[in-house]
Amino acid sequence: EIIASQLALHVKKVKLYNKVKELSIVDGLTQLFVRRHFLERFRDELIRSMKYHLSMVVMMLDIDQFKKYNDTYGHLVGDVALRQVSQTIREVIRRVDIASRYGGEEFAIVLPETDLQGGLDAAERIRSRIAKRLFRAYDEDTRLTISVGLTFFPDNVGQDLEENSTDDIVLTLLKQADEALYRAKEEGRNHVVSYNDNGAQS
Ligand code: GH3
Ligand code: MG
Ligand code: MG
Repeated sequence: EIIASQLALHVKKVKLYNKVKELSIVDGLTQLFVRRHFLERFRDELIRSMKYHLSMVVMMLDIDQFKKYNDTYGHLVGDVALRQVSQTIREVIRRVDIASRYGGEEFAIVLPETDLQGGLDAAERIRSRIAKRLFRAYDEDTRLTISVGLTFFPDNVGQDLEENSTDDIVLTLLKQADEALYRAKEEGRNHVVSYNDNGAQS
């Protein structure tokens, strides 16, 4: 009986440990990774991609006119919509993809072993699915769109590979995806832009 109760206590401890660990890496509202954990996983994936010469796509997604959405429907409806957008993202991506809530209504995703066309297809699937679906919250049927910017490894970091640390390359890729996202917004939103589509390349 003593051993059994010791064992039960141990199982409880392990469960609690796992729960705490999960709470610190997963965002409560969206069930996506928090930024800090995303960056760790991204770095690991980059190291693996460099070692085995694998390509990789990095994307940034941002909900369009979300401030207006909150102003129109209220923050509670906004929260529900944010959760539904995240759910749609999770439905489209693969298990190996690393998706995060990067900021308030902004998401970052790493797609390992993916070429540019694969990344564009995934981004377009997410964009169109969100544009088509109804976001239902508290008896309101609402609509939303998102914009996506993406970049591609190794092509878009090319010659910098040897000199830069993995942390620098992570930041470079995020900056490129963010620049592409900015252009998607400028070009009218509800839109996917790749960093190397004319113009954005530095
Ligand atoms: P744009 O199309 O240029 O991205 O316009 P925007 O209004 O989405 O962009 P902006 O960055 O000005 O506003 C982001 C808004 O997202 C403001 C903020 O209230 C809202 N937001 C951020 N996090 C949350 C959240 O957790 N819940 C809710 N309901 N709203 C959030
Ligand atoms: Mg926005
Ligand atoms: Mg934003």
